[in-house]
Amino acid sequence: MEEGLIKRLMASIKCGVCGQRYEVDNINVLGHHQDLWFLSALCPACHARCLVAAVIGEGKVPEVTTDLTKAELDRFRNASRVTTDDVLDMHNFLKGFDGDLSRLFCQE
Ligand SMILES: [Zn+2]
Repeated sequence: MEEGLIKRLMASIKCGVCGQRYEVDNINVLGHHQDLWFLSALCPACHARCLVAAVIGEGKVPEVTTDLTKAELDRFRNASRVTTDDVLDMHNFLKGFDGDLSRLFCQE
């Protein structure tokens, strides 16, 4: 799977905080474990930074879910900034995870 394709996929979804679409230039691919990709995206409008985990399988329609409730958005908005350690922790946690997962974590 090509990183450029992942970025274009991310650019088709909207910021969970303000609804602005992400731009390819504001998206970073952090890494992937099999079909599970980790990305960070910076909203060009409200500058909320989102950590995204997306399941993107070869030959399948990519799926990114942005289904956070308002309460979840408020919680992430007030959470501390995502660090590299957080991403590594999540990566390690998900190594043993074999189900489909599409989650979006947003915070400023
Ligand atoms: Zn935004």
